[in-house]
Amino acid sequence: GDGGSEGAKYTVGIDTTYPPFEFEEDGEYTGIDIDLITAIAENQGFEIEFSPMDFSGIIPALQAGQLDIAIAGMSITDERKNVVDFSDPYFDAGLTLVVSSDNTEIETLEDLQGKTVAVKSGTTGAEFARANEGEYGFTVSQFEDSPSMFQEVSNGNADVLIEDYPVIAYAISESGLDLKTVGERLNGDQYGIAVLKGENADVLEQINAGLQELRDSGEYDEILGKYIAE
Ligand code: GLN
Repeated sequence: GDGGSEGAKYTVGIDTTYPPFEFEEDGEYTGIDIDLITAIAENQGFEIEFSPMDFSGIIPALQAGQLDIAIAGMSITDERKNVVDFSDPYFDAGLTLVVSSDNTEIETLEDLQGKTVAVKSGTTGAEFARANEGEYGFTVSQFEDSPSMFQEVSNGNADVLIEDYPVIAYAISESGLDLKTVGERLNGDQYGIAVLKGENADVLEQINAGLQELRDSGEYDEILGKYIAE
């Protein structure tokens, strides 16, 4: 930084059960989101302190003034734009259906009649499920974090789950979960870093400048390459 905002310290909300974006390893927070916001803070000259919470609590905590910034694999949506301002997009994602490896019955939304679909509270996956449960005749079962939702399908209590493609692909390859993705991507979306709407133009400007600097220097690609195989 050039001194103007030197020393500013921001509280950053994170969802720490969301590898490869944010997770805990040997008692430290790590992952794409953690590395990106840490590098942005460094190149823009501000300090950060992480505040881990369930994903569904993050936007309310921004609104309550308990967080200054949120980075949580959070998809940029029009609905959220009513209450938060997003940075420039930093990652392309999208939702997919996930079933247990031995399931041969379910491939599309049309196969969900009478089935139970596990989702995570407050996510775009939960929103998608609610918007489609009537038309396709499935029941929604809600969980507070992704591991609990994965567990529900692994142990047969739910037939399907809906998760962001890069997250479930990483979970399957890294932790050998007995799950598989099926069908086409349900949507396409992009992740953004969020601040409370209308209150934080300065920090948002710094975040966008920092992100651009990481892209220009190649550090952005290095961070992604650490966690995601080409
Ligand atoms: N990308 C999804 C959303 O924004 C899920 C985020 C998450 O579970 N951390 O709702």
